[in-house]
Amino acid sequence: MHLNFAGLRKLKAALFPQPEIKLKKKRTKRTKRVLASRLTLGTFEILVTRRSTKYMRLSIAEHKAGFTNSGNSVLKITAPLRLSDQAILDFVAKKSRWIAHHQNKLQLKSERYARNYGGVLGATSIRHFGLRRQIITNRSSIRAASIKIVGGVEPHVQFSIPDSYSAAQRELLLWGWYNTELTLLATSMITKWSAIMQVQVGSVKLRRMKTRWGSCHTSSAKIMLNLELARRPKRCVEFVVVHELVHLLEHGHTRRFYALMDKFLPNWRQTKAVLDSVPLR
Ligand SMILES: [Zn+2]
Repeated sequence: MHLNFAGLRKLKAALFPQPEIKLKKKRTKRTKRVLASRLTLGTFEILVTRRSTKYMRLSIAEHKAGFTNSGNSVLKITAPLRLSDQAILDFVAKKSRWIAHHQNKLQLKSERYARNYGGVLGATSIRHFGLRRQIITNRSSIRAASIKIVGGVEPHVQFSIPDSYSAAQRELLLWGWYNTELTLLATSMITKWSAIMQVQVGSVKLRRMKTRWGSCHTSSAKIMLNLELARRPKRCVEFVVVHELVHLLEHGHTRRFYALMDKFLPNWRQTKAVLDSVPLR
């Protein structure tokens, strides 16, 4: 007698009329076979993923730690399961101009970012509301860390860090400070602008975001601002604040929305250009 799965289940149900454990049919998700490997071609190191696909896909991404590749980018190929290594290498060789172009673009992007807004790790200066501030590190045996702006004509940021602090803790300290600085500035701006615009703000939150400078949840009047704004000029912060508050008057990016922007912040376009000149990464 041949029994398939359903047949077995029926048989089991017949033998054990009231089973203790309910037999639940397992969701049959077709498991895809995925094979990962690495190939090298000249200076390129290629991360190959073979899966059940008909086509080859090439992409280039920013370098992640742990993958030794030339420059700061990594090549990724998705290829059909049975395709030979040689066929993949031939494909990559044919695309070398495209690869070089995109590698270069990624390189420039990360250099521009590091130059202007690189983190505190190993940096000798940081941005504070658009201004470049020297960092003076004062490592000592003190217990509590602190960070503050010191000096009159050419103010600098002074870190006092216990010897035991790691690089990650140092970075965390900086972002905590940015948080305080931006909270102070944004709060005063929101107080000022909500009075001018006659709107009521529910709450303000700061967060590091990858794709947007701010957001506004109109029904609850909750404003979210990107913590990255602490590095950008104050007028850029004001532009984002006004933009989000205008959403409390006009939900979408409509004609009326931009008319209100023009009314409240006549040169918002120039400020936006400044903000966009070094985009978020
Ligand atoms: Zn908007």
